[in-house]
Amino acid sequence: MSDGSSPLTGACVCGGVRFEITEPLESASYCHCTRCQRRTGAGASANAATAPGSLRVVAGEELLRSWTPPDGMAKVFCSECGGHVFAEHPSDPERRGVRLGAIDGDPGIRPSFHQYVAYAAAWEPILDDGLPRFPERRPAD
Ligand SMILES: [Zn+2]
Ligand SMILES: [Zn+2]
Repeated sequence: MSDGSSPLTGACVCGGVRFEITEPLESASYCHCTRCQRRTGAGASANAATAPGSLRVVAGEELLRSWTPPDGMAKVFCSECGGHVFAEHPSDPERRGVRLGAIDGDPGIRPSFHQYVAYAAAWEPILDDGLPRFPERRPAD
């Protein structure tokens, strides 16, 4: 549980990779894109944007591997357990998005929209949670 003074912490499945986030998360959302389904094996992925430079790997840096699609963020995961921990901008490693499920305890933020709902899994209806839904990527403000 974050009170804004202690950093958030998180880890991969096996615990070999650990990270901390020293500033409050900026926004969070559910992504229903096909890539997130393939990456997680789930119907959607919950992600949060971090303040630039605020996510720091504190253990297991050598275990990290990534896959960078031609048109998106690098997907960074633990080579030991396969657990995804964050996404990183290919040309600016300060810009990272964190996987909410990798965070210990309460991340201090809640997802506020759904994106890429046009690709949502046929087998999992999107929760009727009142949040805005965008067929593709959420348009920039
Ligand atoms: Zn691991
Ligand atoms: Zn996605």
